[in-house]
Amino acid sequence: MTTAEGWEPVQRLRTYEQVMSQIEERILDGRLKAGDHLPSERDLAQLLGVSRPSLRESLRVLEALGVVDIRRGGGADGGAMLVGTPGPGFVNLLKLQLALGHFSATDVLETRVALETWSCSEAAYRSTDADHAELAEILDLMDDPLIETKEFNRLDTAFHVRIAESTGNALTSHLMGSLRTAINRQMIEAYEGLADWRATAQVVRHEHRTILESIKKRDATEAARFVSLHIHDFYKTGNVGGTYPTG
Ligand SMILES: [Zn+2]
Repeated sequence: MTTAEGWEPVQRLRTYEQVMSQIEERILDGRLKAGDHLPSERDLAQLLGVSRPSLRESLRVLEALGVVDIRRGGGADGGAMLVGTPGPGFVNLLKLQLALGHFSATDVLETRVALETWSCSEAAYRSTDADHAELAEILDLMDDPLIETKEFNRLDTAFHVRIAESTGNALTSHLMGSLRTAINRQMIEAYEGLADWRATAQVVRHEHRTILESIKKRDATEAARFVSLHIHDFYKTGNVGGTYPTG
């Protein structure tokens, strides 16, 4: 006897979802890899039994996600190419999600502290002299007394992301770079909202030098401690996102 239990409504997948799931399956089982070209739009539409406009829509979604590159596929009939390096898909999504309030300022703060304390302590072990020289160069540029908030924040981002890169962990530096780019506007607004941003900039400069010194001395504990203080300090002073809990 049949009962109402155990039955689930059949999922009606949209065309682009079905096309995506076939491509995903091929990537997961190794039949498709980064750098490969998909069949031409005409051939692929025929193989999948979908119209060319439907296929084009699917490819646009995959392009926005950073999975395929249509332009580098060699024209309309050259077939989209599977991308081998992370593009701006993640950062664009994250930016919108933050703007829509999916994550709070505290979520961002805590995630930054987690990623950056790990990065700084790992950088103390793994970074090279060349990394230190590049980090020092960024800090020297930040010392420009006439620097404006936008450029100061760009270099600040570059400094933090460069530390993450020096760990050799590509995913951590991608996550950090994406997160910093996504909160770019809030960071600049926080600087501009300060009564005396140049005074804060002096504190930031000093904190950066302390972080770099600990990394150079291979002192992982200090490097992690200093970066955590640095991030917390700025969120308090700048009231980033306007929702940082006091105390
Ligand atoms: Zn900083």
